[in-house]
Amino acid sequence: MKLLNEEEFTEYIKSNHQFVLTNDSSSLSSEISSRCDFCQKDAYLKIGSRWHERTYRKDNLPIFATFFIQCPSCKRQSFIQLVVLSRLQESENGSRYVFDYYKLFNLPSQESQFETKDIPAEYRLLKKTVLEAKYALQHSQYMSATIMFRRALQILVKDILGAKGRTLYKELEWLKDNVNALQINLTDVFHDNSSLIRQVGNQGAHPDKDEELQEFSEEDANAVHDLFLLLVNEVFVLPAKIKAMKMELAERRKLK
Ligand SMILES: [Zn+2]
Repeated sequence: MKLLNEEEFTEYIKSNHQFVLTNDSSSLSSEISSRCDFCQKDAYLKIGSRWHERTYRKDNLPIFATFFIQCPSCKRQSFIQLVVLSRLQESENGSRYVFDYYKLFNLPSQESQFETKDIPAEYRLLKKTVLEAKYALQHSQYMSATIMFRRALQILVKDILGAKGRTLYKELEWLKDNVNALQINLTDVFHDNSSLIRQVGNQGAHPDKDEELQEFSEEDANAVHDLFLLLVNEVFVLPAKIKAMKMELAERRKLK
């Protein structure tokens, strides 16, 4: 199924998704004026870090971005997945491109059941492993949690994405050069995050000589958890969202 054109998609995003902010190339916003999804207060949500990804190139879709944000009121942290639409803005000094961000959805970073809810039921072993990792995390077993997230990563890449190789390292490398079983166009963020989870998980499984690396803090384990959440998002949530958006758009345009 193909989109009619970029204007159609732009219109669709504008009428169905919440506008968040506008940036130009000379300034980047560090706050979002919005309502917190958790405590329902209007607040300037602080943007911690951001990633931009041009994914699904073949579909001629725009850029996607992920913001890591924190509510100043309830301190809850979450990820927001956004679509970025560019437009030419005319001014006295000539024209320039500005970027409008529209919110697709919000992922809480420390919610208890989020990953398992997003993982399809057929992947039982992955669900079970992630639940065990979460259980360890909630009971302050940070080293076990980290090892379990590494195990969950291996199940995701080997059993679900069909990566080939005798080690997790080789499987992750395979994914960079080959079409995976779900035919998902994986982003650089996926490769970076999975590599980091693998390395941190290895430090848990094979104790390092460096004594500082033998301990795992709550922050370390939470960070691995959040990185894994982004992988789940990329493999299971985003492709389903985009498919649903395209189907709805095609139906409205009577393309099928
Ligand atoms: Zn809040």
